[in-house]
Order: sequence, then C-alpha cells, then structure tokens
Amino acid sequence: MIKHNMVDLVSQYSKIKGEIDNAIMNVIAEASFINGPAVKTFQKSFEEYLNVKHVIPCANGTDALQVALMALDLKPDDEIITTSFTFIATVEVIGLLKLTPVLVDVHPDTFNIDPEAVERAITAKTKAIIPVHLFGQSADIHAIIKIAQKHNLYIIEDTAQAIGADFTCPETGKTKKIGTFGHIGCTSFFPSKNLGAFGDGGAIFTNNDDLAEKMKMIVNHGMTVRYYHDEIGVNSRLDSIQAAILDIKLEYLDDYTKARQEAAAYYNNAFADHPKITTPVTGASTTHVFHQYTLVLNDVDREGLMQHLADKGIASAIYYPVPLHLQKAYLDPRYKEGDFPITERLSKSVISLPIHTELTPEIQKEITDAVLEFVDK
Ligand SMILES: *Cc1c(COP(=O)(O)O)cnc(C)c1O
Repeated sequence: MIKHNMVDLVSQYSKIKGEIDNAIMNVIAEASFINGPAVKTFQKSFEEYLNVKHVIPCANGTDALQVALMALDLKPDDEIITTSFTFIATVEVIGLLKLTPVLVDVHPDTFNIDPEAVERAITAKTKAIIPVHLFGQSADIHAIIKIAQKHNLYIIEDTAQAIGADFTCPETGKTKKIGTFGHIGCTSFFPSKNLGAFGDGGAIFTNNDDLAEKMKMIVNHGMTVRYYHDEIGVNSRLDSIQAAILDIKLEYLDDYTKARQEAAAYYNNAFADHPKITTPVTGASTTHVFHQYTLVLNDVDREGLMQHLADKGIASAIYYPVPLHLQKAYLDPRYKEGDFPITERLSKSVISLPIHTELTPEIQKEITDAVLEFVDK
C-alpha cells in the first residue's frame, strides 16, 4: 500500500473545501456551464497574475500548444525546434499539424533545452522554437530570445510544469512570469500540475493583439461572428466549473509554490553532497516552482530503489523513461540512439520523489531515510 503518493490532492482540497464547493454550486445554480461568467473572471485574474495582455482559456495544455502553432500560419514541413526531454504533448502537436519536429539535447544540470544546440539546429525551414520549462524552472529564455530574434523565429513557451516561476532578464534586471517572454505561452491545469483543476483545463497567453484575436477564434471553431467561420478551428474550451475552481486556487498558487520550495529545500539538505545523488540545480536567473523534484542517481540500481521505496509505502516516478526520438510512434530516420546523449543518460538515471503542497518534515524524513537506506547499503 502506497501511503505517500506523488501528489496529495485530497488534503489540498480539504483545506479549501468550503470555498471550492460554493464556487461549484454557484456555476450549477446559474447553469452557465460553457463560457459562463466564471470563465471570464478567471481569465481576468490570470491575466493580472501573469501580467500579460491576453489569456485565452482552453480545454487542456496539449490543445494550448496546438492552437498556438495553428495561429502561426505555418506550412507542412516547416521545422519546429524543441527539446528531446519532455512530455510527449510537446511533439505530438507538431506531428499532428504535419510540421517537422527538430529535437535538440538538454543541459545536463537543468534538464532544459540547450540554446547552443538550438542555434546549431536552425535551417531555412525553421519557423519556431518551443522551449519547455521542465519540472518547474525556466529554460534559458534570454538566450533563446536572442537566437529567435537573430533568425526571425517564433517562440512558444511550454509552461505546463512551471506556472508561477519568475525569470529575471540578465540584461535589464526586469523580472517577469515565465510564459510571457515568447510570442505565446501555454499552460495546463491538469489536476496534478502546480495550478490544477478538477479535470482537464489549459490556457494560452500572449501580449500580441493579433495572435490573441486569432487564437480566440481558433479555440472556438474559427468563428468570428456566430456561424461565420474565418479559420479552421477546434473546439477547445475551459468549462465554467473548472474556471471557478481555478479562480480560487490561483489565490493560493504562491503559497503552494512556497510549500513546494520548502519541501525541495528539505530534500536538498538531506541529500547534500551525497556522492551517488545529484540534487536539482536551479539555473541562473530563474526561480524553481518544483513541479517535480528530480534526482540524478550515480551508480544506483534505480529499479531496486523504486521497489525499496514502494515496499515502504512511498511512491516514486521516472520522468521520462524514454527520450522522444526513441518512442515508437516518433521513430524517424533522421534520429538514432546516441544522438541525444544527455537526454539518453538522464532517462536512465533520473528519479522523481513525491513533491506537493501537503508534505510535512515527518513525511519527508521517512522518504529521505528510505532513499538513503537503500543508496548507502
Ligand atoms: C502536462 C503537460 C502538457 C499537456 O498538458 P495537458 O493539459 O495534459 O494536455 C504539455 N507539456 C508538458 C511539458 C506537460 O507537462
């Protein structure tokens, strides 16, 4: 029996049950399930939180990425550069739209896309870069913006795992929420994400008025005026119940982030300077909101450790066990094993421990003791 899961959404909910239940009942009482007032309210709150001009709520994070790409007027075979170490959704949408994903390796410390590798991968067909802010910290968005400007490329930020993280521009010293640096930012409200709904949800954000107009149309069947369709669109809406829940949870997001950071600090301390464990490295200029707490193991039997933890009722997970270029559905003659050595090494040596808003030092001690017992034996 697992007692300590990767997340604890039940305890999190129990603390704000009254507020949440009320909000849900209000939507039901109004029967305004689609595009109701709650959606507009959340949209405004989220625009304010992110300090961005436009938020376009949508049905999930994968749709957010797809709609962002659809808004860029790309042609089949245009190339989109992204990381080889991410959740599948990032490349899935590129493939669905018949665009060509161009993968590049990551930085070994931060696990985030390597800007130098991005620059080397640019060709005449390259149209956009999708940096993923993996596990809760910003990719080197400053370097990526420089490259995009130089080569006239779009940037779509995949902020599904890092909502609320800040990045400070090393040149201007100005701090902004990540996801608001590129042309378009995308996020997910999947329940286990840092800002999680009670079902699926997502959002797209931009400071560009034209892109915002276009994406608002695309999420709603490409419709300008009711039943007049100017674009091929999709049906991708955030439903009102989810919006009402998210509007409440958004008020707690910074507290949730703090709880995650404190939990990460506990782990970091327990594993500090261990020869077989590398704790997460936070990149320059970014904060880390610890969507995942991911260790790199050195000369440790990972499967054995996971079994040892499971035997003690502790969950653990591998994000991600198979690099994108080795996934069956994405096998491609352009790529072979060995092409992305850092990603390949990470996929064999990372392990993620439970991290969420409800951890206590007592629970964390159980977890770190169990890890060290196995690693040191
Ligand atoms: C969760 C996630 C997505 C997709 O979000 P969904 O809401 O599940 O569709 C996209 N990219 C990354 C990096 C994610 O972690």
